[in-house]
Amino acid sequence: MTIVDVRTGLGWDSHRLTDTQPDRPFVLGGVTIDSPLALDGHSDADVLTHAVIDALLGAAGLGDIGEHFPDTDERWKGADSIALLAHVVGLVRDGGWTVTSVDATVVLERPKLSPHKAAMAERLAATLRVESGRVNVKATTAERMDAVGRGEGAVAQAVATIVRPA
Ligand code: MG
Repeated sequence: MTIVDVRTGLGWDSHRLTDTQPDRPFVLGGVTIDSPLALDGHSDADVLTHAVIDALLGAAGLGDIGEHFPDTDERWKGADSIALLAHVVGLVRDGGWTVTSVDATVVLERPKLSPHKAAMAERLAATLRVESGRVNVKATTAERMDAVGRGEGAVAQAVATIVRPA
């Protein structure tokens, strides 16, 4: 019998939405979405990719995104979060882990994400170096309740499962 070590990590992130930075792209799951809105933050503010990064770091026992990429560091200003995820995937793999699955939910009122979910899952899967069926991206709204429901920001949650020989 092969004994394997299976770990699961949880990621959660939130970023404000802005409509006053027309030149700032709206990037989610590494996909640029055409919108007058954008997520605001030190990096590209890709809230979904940040949640996936924290889920992976959590599963591998490697801390959190703020320890690896502090938002006080000028190196990460405007950073491409997919490149940060690729770096974290390298750390996880260096630990002998293989990513088996990632599931995520994005909560925001607009823009509508349904046309973009498949592309986001594909981009994340390619960065995680797994087949696309192992990554699932879901989208929902906050039903106009709370700050997310008022369109002030977006929240993302993710779980990642990784495995290595015990
Ligand atoms: Mg973030």
